[in-house]
Amino acid sequence: MLSEPSSHLLIIGGGPAGSAAATTAAAQGIGVTVVEKDIVGGGAHLWDCIPSKTMSASALRMDSIRHASRLGLITEPSDVDMPRLSTRMAAITADINRGLVDLLDSQKVDLLSGTGRLTGTNSAVVELDDGGERQLRFDHCLLSTGSVPRVPDWAQVDGERVLTTRHAYDLPEVPDHVVVIGSGVTGVEFVHIFAALGSRVTLVVSRQQVLPYRDPEVAAVLEEDFLERGIRLVIGARATGIDKGEHGVTVTCDDGRVVEGSHALLAIGSVPLTADLGLGDAGVEHDGGYIVVDDFQRTSVPHIYAAGDCTGQMPLSSVAAMQGRKIARHIAGMPVTPLDYSKVSQGVFTQPEIASVGLEEVEAAEHGRKVRTTKVPFAANARSVLQSSTRGFVKVISDPATGVVLGGTIVGHRASELIGIVALAVAANVNIRQLVETLMVHPSASEAITEAAE
Ligand SMILES: Cc1cc2nc3c(=O)[nH]c(=O)nc-3n(C[C@H](O)[C@H](O)[C@H](O)COP(=O)(O)OP(=O)(O)OC[C@H]3O[C@@H](n4cnc5c(N)ncnc54)[C@H](O)[C@@H]3O)c2cc1C
Repeated sequence: MLSEPSSHLLIIGGGPAGSAAATTAAAQGIGVTVVEKDIVGGGAHLWDCIPSKTMSASALRMDSIRHASRLGLITEPSDVDMPRLSTRMAAITADINRGLVDLLDSQKVDLLSGTGRLTGTNSAVVELDDGGERQLRFDHCLLSTGSVPRVPDWAQVDGERVLTTRHAYDLPEVPDHVVVIGSGVTGVEFVHIFAALGSRVTLVVSRQQVLPYRDPEVAAVLEEDFLERGIRLVIGARATGIDKGEHGVTVTCDDGRVVEGSHALLAIGSVPLTADLGLGDAGVEHDGGYIVVDDFQRTSVPHIYAAGDCTGQMPLSSVAAMQGRKIARHIAGMPVTPLDYSKVSQGVFTQPEIASVGLEEVEAAEHGRKVRTTKVPFAANARSVLQSSTRGFVKVISDPATGVVLGGTIVGHRASELIGIVALAVAANVNIRQLVETLMVHPSASEAITEAAE
């Protein structure tokens, strides 16, 4: 075990939370051991962010080939090579993983391949992948074990026809007809992926709109796009069963509707991976498996921290990594402010993309807060018109009294990149007049942001 100068941090789970904490802590001279049972980079690199966005990039390119004639181009008929796509995804994950392992190595972080578990308030045991066991003692510990897809008892996942998102990446061929169950961020992203790759897609939506907790105007743009692509929406139906036949699946809904497809994909959230973590042995409180933390990510045992999906806070890689960095600074005795969740940028990688930051109009209305909302459609933006990507809009929300930018929503091509401008404005309490007077490149999609601020 690494025994560095004054204190030792044990990290169980090397995903975005764990690896960001490790690099920040090591940079502060803290001795760090990371225990990881799969790969550092975590579920985010192996199953979630990286593979899904790699697949999405191929889907996006396929989409643009399909619509090339709109730009006056003639293209050859194109097809998808799923095994090659899977190989590409695995290679990208391996590349990123190698980079991260090298970085941790260069910082002298001790990386243990195995499964960790707390045995007391300052001790843990690791079952090493290559056999054997390692007992560890720590001054501080970070629990960052992430989550796994939720599988309800009415679904028998076989990885071939009944899938979670983890099975979506190495299918032998493009599925004929995918029934996606769940219309949150993950569900709609996979609808986009499979539809663009050429599958027929049916989306089972348990509420009255896709992306149930989002601005209805945003959901409307996405629904319009889905319908135009021939995606069938089964609105207001909760899936209650999946029957598997020889050639396909039958999904039954609570209102009696039945949906047939070749494959079913479950995208109904996740559950924390904490059951075998020894929380009870260390006296760490949890709520239904989610580790309870305070504003500084401390658990009920103050020198044991938790971060990322296992806490049930905002389940995003970016949030997990930021929590990890803040924990490392806290342990190092540096000044730390609690993470402001109201200023987190969020993206949905559909086509058009959706991104938002800060206060949303619906949220302001719910709290009876007066806001000024200004909106510009991309149809009025020159760059978007010449790229033939006019679907969507930019909405900027500001305080009518002070002019401070409070939030923004962008639906459109590369919205996940554009939102950075609004995110910076929100983080820095920029006045909307400053945004209006910022000169953007012409023609560019960013001009829509300054115009929306006007
Ligand atoms: C399909 C999908 C796509 C997503 N896309 C995005 C996106 O584009 N952007 C975004 O910000 N978020 C995205 N997310 C969410 C994001 O993946 C998670 O919020 C993020 O991975 C959480 O990071 P984490 O560090 O908490 O956990 P994880 O990334 O899950 O890492 C936890 C690690 O702990 C390890 N572990 C668990 N138990 C033990 C143990 N006992 N001992 C040793 N190791 C252990 C696991 O092997 C894993 O490597 C997506 C989620 C899904 C499902």
